[in-house]
Amino acid sequence: MTELGAQSVSDRTSRPGSAVAPPRILVVEDEAALSLLLAYNIEAEGFAVERVERGDEAELRLIESPPDLVILDWMLPGVSGLEVCRRMRAREATRTLPVIMLTARGDESERVRGLTIGADDYIVKPFSVPELMARVRALLRRSRPDRVAALLVAGDIALDRENWRVVRSSRSVHLGPTEFRLLEYLMGKPGRVFSRAQLLDGIWGLSAEIDERTVDVHVGRLRKALALAGERDPIRTIRGAGYSFDETFGKSD
Ligand code: CA
Repeated sequence: MTELGAQSVSDRTSRPGSAVAPPRILVVEDEAALSLLLAYNIEAEGFAVERVERGDEAELRLIESPPDLVILDWMLPGVSGLEVCRRMRAREATRTLPVIMLTARGDESERVRGLTIGADDYIVKPFSVPELMARVRALLRRSRPDRVAALLVAGDIALDRENWRVVRSSRSVHLGPTEFRLLEYLMGKPGRVFSRAQLLDGIWGLSAEIDERTVDVHVGRLRKALALAGERDPIRTIRGAGYSFDETFGKSD
């Protein structure tokens, strides 16, 4: 993420004890701004990302080192997304590799063609990034269950992504969908500080016109629900920066 001036997320994902490499996602998109936005969000999820702009570049990359998932734009210079997908399905090494196609609004017949040609999913532009990321996670959980944990555990808190449940010690923690996503986001990268703007982008979506104080409101609700029995607060407020899930939580006590 040097382009955005942010810290390298991949450095921060390699926590001690996590020997499993994060899933790699190839983004094939010729709109630079969208490609960057996707890369940023993919890295924030803890996945590795590679970006190419042309269909023929994608083909080369897919042959050299197939990723774990491809986000493939339909309209590309060089070779079209549809053709890239068709050729992927014809090759043994990439026959079952998950593909999410990005299509333009209204191309109903093209979408149907995309799915017939072997895309696993499609999403219509303009789309919400959180929605796309939810589909990425769902596809990866199906295709790479070994690489994407369904259960996030820190100390006495366990978050079950499959069943949308959170348990603290033995009690069930009741969270609204936003608080759940917030906790999932923070727990997914313990110690990483997310600004309010990053949390808004990642959870509500970039297009959402929501005041940053909304984040504080939901963090407040999340804290309250997690510490209903007076337990330790796992979320740290970093003044002037944002929030993070305490990486020492469950380790120091
Ligand atoms: Ca395009």
